[in-house]
Amino acid sequence: MSTDPVLPPGMSAARFARALAAFEAIVGAPNVCRGGAALAPYFDPFAPVADARAFAPSAALLPAGIDEIRAILRVANAARVPLWTVSTGRNFAYGGAAPRLAGSVVLDLQRLNRILAVDENLAWALVEPGVSYFDLYAYLREHGLKLWVDPPAAGWGSVIGNTLERGFGYTAYGDHAAAQCGMEVVLANGEVVRTGMGALDAGTLALSSWPLYRAGYGPSFDALFTQSNYGIVTKMGLWLMPAPPAYVIGEIQFAHEDDLGVIVDTLRTLQLRGTIVQHAVIEGAIRRAAGIDPRTRWYAGDAPMPEAAIAAMQRDLGIGRWNLHYALYGEPAVIDAQQRIVERAFAPVADSRAMAKRYTGNEEPQGGGDRNMAGIPTMSAFRMLDWRGGEGAHVDFSPLCPADGRDAWRQYSLVKARAAEYGFDYYGGFTAAGRALHHVFAAIFVRTDARQATRAGDLLRALMSDARAAGYGVYRSHLLYMDYAAAQYDFNDGALLRLAQTVKDALDPQGVLAPGKQGVWPAAWRDRRGYT
Ligand code: ADP
Repeated sequence: MSTDPVLPPGMSAARFARALAAFEAIVGAPNVCRGGAALAPYFDPFAPVADARAFAPSAALLPAGIDEIRAILRVANAARVPLWTVSTGRNFAYGGAAPRLAGSVVLDLQRLNRILAVDENLAWALVEPGVSYFDLYAYLREHGLKLWVDPPAAGWGSVIGNTLERGFGYTAYGDHAAAQCGMEVVLANGEVVRTGMGALDAGTLALSSWPLYRAGYGPSFDALFTQSNYGIVTKMGLWLMPAPPAYVIGEIQFAHEDDLGVIVDTLRTLQLRGTIVQHAVIEGAIRRAAGIDPRTRWYAGDAPMPEAAIAAMQRDLGIGRWNLHYALYGEPAVIDAQQRIVERAFAPVADSRAMAKRYTGNEEPQGGGDRNMAGIPTMSAFRMLDWRGGEGAHVDFSPLCPADGRDAWRQYSLVKARAAEYGFDYYGGFTAAGRALHHVFAAIFVRTDARQATRAGDLLRALMSDARAAGYGVYRSHLLYMDYAAAQYDFNDGALLRLAQTVKDALDPQGVLAPGKQGVWPAAWRDRRGYT
């Protein structure tokens, strides 16, 4: 894969060189990546296209703080250089740190990495973009604070980056956007805004109710900065889960493929009644197995894994065709009672097998998935990359699914059949959050194989089209299909996207911030829509 920089569209090399010199004067030469190994991390590591230059950056800048960000914005506005903000840029499977518009300058905020405050009693933290889940977890441990983080699948990602993309985790605080409270944002014109109670300048954080009450007074803006290109988020408050006195981690294995419907319906009732309040996960057999061994142990062919091989794999590993992973947190007597309710609810499903372990608040489980449910970040999710051998990569198709057994079965059947047509196994599962499920299917491919990579990209597009025809929409998408996903939200001839663009043009008239993110193009770059 070539990692040569690409100029911003329509900009001459000489003009760009002048802009880069101005950026260098702001951040210092060591904090400008112009090409080669320094720029390599800003390309999409898992690009589902033959040529990753479709999303190539022109350069990357690593500012040290808000003043430098504001100075960069002054230059970008004057020279019309498109910027692409990342916190740590580990949004793998959706594009990594790479920009939507080739030739953008990546603004990498990893040097803004302070944990500004943590309040144990009120259970919140205020962090900068460069703080990862591992960092926050280590800080809480070091300071002996009885608070948990809610890690996403890969703990190395940024707390702010994941929250802004509306990522999710596996504890009772699994809805990251819902646990966010208060932001500091630098707008395209350099204005620094604090949202909610943060606008009430309290002098010191200790006196502030910024991370406590999201709304503040008047119109509320936090959600406007999630999955958007309206600003550069430089601080964020988030609520943390008080460490529970005890917890149960349970797994129920279901033997049959068509158990999916009853699992979803039973789980929904348990979640809506408040018995299970965390984000429980329903993993397909292949996803469960991929955390243990690669597929060649059961099947060496190139075609999707046959049913007989899946059955053998289930038997060998002692796993279900579907595997429900859940947790209960709280007082021992309460969670013991909840555990009995959960087991009773699923007992009627023929050939199901329930296992659970209760931990005291100080104990730690061992397996990666279990650790995530105990608020411990891991990198165990990366084992999936070994599933097909070679240098593994994946791109994800993530439709939102009503928490109804019929919908889950419909989506599953649709995805499994289409994936098989393109030569991919159904590697997927559902993360359940009450009324809705995040259905995530990963097309796993060998990244050095351009044909496989392109097929994975083609499959994503086919799946999005199938899903839309069936009435479903995705909650997140790879750079390649941001326009396609946005166009699917088409009520009243795309009124939502028109509104998003109106706001974009008002806030960012030169179109310097992340053009094309989530399909929202500023006037200056609108002709690039759909173009890769
Ligand atoms: P992570 O490393 O947690 O996976 P990233 O840093 O890759 O997350 O961020 C994911 C996406 O969120 C980025 O591609 C960008 O579009 C957006 N984003 C991340 N951080 C910021 C920020 N501080 N301000 C504005 N947008 C951001």
